[in-house]
Amino acid sequence: MKMKAAVVTPDSNGNVDIIEREIRPLENGEALVEVEYCGVCHTDLHVAAGDFGKKPGRVLGHEGIGIVKETAAGVTKLKPGDRVSIAWLFKSCGSCEYCVTGRETLCRSVVNAGYTADGAMATYCIVDADYAVKVPDGLDPAQASSITCAGVTTYKAIKVSGIQPGQWIAMYGAGGLGNLAVQYAKKVFGAHVIAIDINDDKLALAKEVGADLTVNPAKEDAAQFIREKTGGAHAAVVTAVSRAAFNSAVDAVRAGGRVVAVGLPSETMDLSIPRIVLDGIEVVGSLVGTRKDLEEAFQFGAEGIVVPVVQTRTLDETNDIFQEMRDGKIQGRMVIDMKKSCGCH
Ligand SMILES: [Zn+2]
Ligand SMILES: [Zn+2]
Repeated sequence: MKMKAAVVTPDSNGNVDIIEREIRPLENGEALVEVEYCGVCHTDLHVAAGDFGKKPGRVLGHEGIGIVKETAAGVTKLKPGDRVSIAWLFKSCGSCEYCVTGRETLCRSVVNAGYTADGAMATYCIVDADYAVKVPDGLDPAQASSITCAGVTTYKAIKVSGIQPGQWIAMYGAGGLGNLAVQYAKKVFGAHVIAIDINDDKLALAKEVGADLTVNPAKEDAAQFIREKTGGAHAAVVTAVSRAAFNSAVDAVRAGGRVVAVGLPSETMDLSIPRIVLDGIEVVGSLVGTRKDLEEAFQFGAEGIVVPVVQTRTLDETNDIFQEMRDGKIQGRMVIDMKKSCGCH
């Protein structure tokens, strides 16, 4: 049996080739998933461009949702017909200090979908059954795909921020992750939210999904605005892929505030040592989420508390989507609908 897939080009030039490939037989503990939807993430752009090392021929995609078609020996958790996720956390060792202390995303032997394992930007994907998280009933699968990376990543980052109900949290970046970050912060954690983005359309979307205040740093000093309006945020989550956003976040939090780094610009940030010491500022990284975090993030989606903003496209349009992302043109999340693209429906 064959599948259609978006794979990294032989020279890792930042685009994908759409190819047909034979599906290999399942091994012990694996399941074959017929992919329904796969969201497109900035990380896919990095992998396609070889920014984390060249991966020619790798099937991209770590925001996959699909239906289990077949399970191999040793699979007890899943059965054919189950709807599951294919996330960045594709597999970890299960026994190291990180895996046994609820920090499996930090496992040194972690395998990532669409990077070190073939991912979900394809009509079929083979998963390790223990790491495929079930999608609850009532959650739209296209929306679920967006929660599989963007949603769980922001949900976890807000957890890490330690924000309490009624406190102010600053969300730097109101794009694919940011609009979900605003919703989780506001509707799940009960925080007051300030959204910061250089794109007014993205700020308008942030306002629509619940931001109390918005500020455009291309027009005014965001940190100063936040200090004036709130006395300084209690925490900040930075999903923006910009050094300036990280620096501004450190300036925007009040004494004792925590800055959570999520976006991945390949630069360093400025950290004033007196500011860190005298004001007790914490800066901490947060990487996607565990299977348990994803289960929780899904549940808030299933209950309609958080509603991802998604648009569906075809697999053949992947390179166009990449260009629109590079140009900053996308509102919410672009999600590839595999049924639309296979040409047989
Ligand atoms: Zn992602
Ligand atoms: Zn491990």
